[in-house]
Amino acid sequence: MAQEILIDAEHLYRYYGPTCAVRDVGFQLAKGDVLGFLGPNGAGKSTTMQMLTGNLAPSAGTIRVRGIDLLDAPKRAKHELGYLPEQPPLYREHTVDEFLTYCGRLHRVSGDHLRVAVGQAKQRCGLGAVGKRLIGNLSKGYQQRVGIAQAILHNPAVVILDEPTVGLDPIQIREIRALIRELGNDHGIILSTHILPEVQGVCNRVQIINRGQLVFSDTMAGLEQHLHSQHIIVRLRNAPAPAELLQLPGVAALELLDDGRLRLRYEGTNPAVALAEIAVARGWGLEELIPERRTLEQIFVELTMQDTPIDTGDTGTHPTETEAA
Ligand code: ADP
Repeated sequence: MAQEILIDAEHLYRYYGPTCAVRDVGFQLAKGDVLGFLGPNGAGKSTTMQMLTGNLAPSAGTIRVRGIDLLDAPKRAKHELGYLPEQPPLYREHTVDEFLTYCGRLHRVSGDHLRVAVGQAKQRCGLGAVGKRLIGNLSKGYQQRVGIAQAILHNPAVVILDEPTVGLDPIQIREIRALIRELGNDHGIILSTHILPEVQGVCNRVQIINRGQLVFSDTMAGLEQHLHSQHIIVRLRNAPAPAELLQLPGVAALELLDDGRLRLRYEGTNPAVALAEIAVARGWGLEELIPERRTLEQIFVELTMQDTPIDTGDTGTHPTETEAA
């Protein structure tokens, strides 16, 4: 069954004076999605997030939250949104309970509903034992949990988190990521981050923005395809002449690496299985056979350092490569 679409944003533009900070950006977020939103500084992430949360009017474009137009009916649409800004507006001199109760009132939750909502948000964010503590005395990790608790307090369909793990220690980062994954079961989540492994560890979809425009938008599975580099690394104890290797089906080029291993570029089907069988049959002494993968970081750098569209595998011909005839 198709998942419910929670956010549908189309053709978003935002000008600051003559500067176009966001150009024709679209977003679709379905229930259960944890969408990673990546881009270098100045790319337009904050501008986009502020438009999606109803804090900044787009110069052009439409944003619907569960079908409700954010510009026509901002109150109703914002009720479906929870937002953790990069600098959470926490009151350090409030206790956790006081602060969350206050936030609930801002969302027009009251009476018994408010007590239940505060209790549930605390429980989901692991804050059960610290309700009476002053926020200013909590660790940064716990303060971030309070920020997330205020974002989910009114049980919004969509939770938007801006750099939620910045400044946390590795254990706190693990805990907050686990919490985000768990929230992804019940909400749609947009996660803006600079931390690429965070996207791989937490998200099921990824969008990359550069100079105001989307340069990549795919599922994590789609991204996996881009991570395959069309290269395999091989170590052979008795390597044959290059010409013999280049005759293997699919092998397009060959490069000798400094450590004595060979880097084969292929086209079409990965020749690893055929190569292993032939290496055994011909006594080449196969010691290593590793599919080479690009990292998300490499893809990110390629997309954001140049204006070219994404390369679908081949990282380019190396000067020392021997090409197949
Ligand atoms: P990011 O969050 O990816 O770092 P921003 O959305 O903050 O990017 O900024 C995108 C572009 O818009 C940048 O060139 C930035 O200088 C510009 N910009 C952002 N906010 C304003 C503003 N209030 N006035 C003028 N220019 C702005």
